Amino acid sequence: MVHIMKGELTQEEKELLEVIRKGTVQEAGTLLANKNVRVNCLDENGMTPLMHAAYKGKLDMCKLLLRHGADVNCHQHEHGYTALMFAALSGYKDIVWVMLEAGAETDVVNSVGRTAAQMAAFVGQHDCVTVINNFFPRERLDYYTKPQGLDKESKLPPKLAGPLHKIITTTNLHPVKIVMLVNENPLLAEAAALSKCYKVMDLICEKCMKQRDMNEVLAMKTHYISCIFQKCINFLKDGENKLDTLIKSLLKGRATDGFPTYQEKIVRESIRKFPYCEATLLQQLVRSIAPVEIGSDPTAFSVLNQAITGQVGFIDVEFCTTCGEKGASKRCSVCKMVIYCDQTCQKIHWFTHKKICKNLKDIYEKQQLKAAKEKRKEENDGKLDVNSNCINEEQPEAETDPSQEDADQEDSSPKDPVEGDEESHKSDAGLEGVQDGPAGPQASEE
Ligand SMILES: [Zn+2]
Ligand SMILES: [Zn+2]
Repeated sequence: MVHIMKGELTQEEKELLEVIRKGTVQEAGTLLANKNVRVNCLDENGMTPLMHAAYKGKLDMCKLLLRHGADVNCHQHEHGYTALMFAALSGYKDIVWVMLEAGAETDVVNSVGRTAAQMAAFVGQHDCVTVINNFFPRERLDYYTKPQGLDKESKLPPKLAGPLHKIITTTNLHPVKIVMLVNENPLLAEAAALSKCYKVMDLICEKCMKQRDMNEVLAMKTHYISCIFQKCINFLKDGENKLDTLIKSLLKGRATDGFPTYQEKIVRESIRKFPYCEATLLQQLVRSIAPVEIGSDPTAFSVLNQAITGQVGFIDVEFCTTCGEKGASKRCSVCKMVIYCDQTCQKIHWFTHKKICKNLKDIYEKQQLKAAKEKRKEENDGKLDVNSNCINEEQPEAETDPSQEDADQEDSSPKDPVEGDEESHKSDAGLEGVQDGPAGPQASEE
């Protein structure tokens, strides 16, 4: 490779750096086609165009530069910063992700010995830390598909690497979702295969804890996945696939309020069984969960999920009651209190939800009345939503707030549950999309 000197930029390269700061991707593309522009040129501080783009948070620029062969691991910066470090320091997690996918090494250190994750943690960019810690390149798993040392056989059959990698890199760690991912793949849904998988998860967990730059997040994640796999194995034992039974057990709500106690216990148990009791993350989790009575908030899953993926239950994001998938938007048309990805998730949940659906409906109606009263009171007081910028407008109706939309339909079109055969996986209740108009329940039966 041609040695590139710091600060010796051609006129066009200077222009490129300027365009990265202020211009468009098209302009940058034109410049990159110019033979006087080297994609890995270095400014006087040893920064490449990619580092500049990462630092400025220009995602599309980063992608363009990478397509043009930008070196994601260039390490010529005066303080040893890489493009990944610039992205992480500035808090651009999308760019962090793109860098990682482009092969950015996470264990490179800057001139004072800090990795990108450590630098991001130091400046409080925790989302970026999470993205880096959760990143798990396929190669790291492929390592286990080859016999190592004196082993005759590999620890992981190559055909399992793909499906297993999909599970490790999932951002939805809901136990039901993991069992679903296992269940949907015939290669995985088998006791012998899962045994191999959970042992590999345990090995990765151990490695994460013993490496110099410890990664407790990935260690906890792989340990947790291992525990769920072991549960699956128990339900696959007699050569029969009973993962549907496991899913039902995980969803079954207790009589009083429908809270899924078994699921809570499974998640708590898996955290407790984490083999490295000195881990800070473990202690944090235990401190958050131990004082919580089963059935109260926060659930063990929400605490674990937040610690691993950094996701907080944002108010404007809805999670599927069955599988925890983000962005679920279909509501039970009877109680309007639970939300699902789709009818499949609703059907899976119905066996237990049907027992409390009517109660939830009452609660929902009371909430609506209360909210309506409060709204009237607020309007009378002339009080304004503090979060609203629309000072002169009527209280804006948030589109994502389903209660507002449903309130209008409530009296005019009561939704009768669709008739159905209760015990055959079919659901009585219809589904409605939050964004849908005042349509009746969607017939959920075929
Ligand atoms: Zn779902
Ligand atoms: Zn319901």
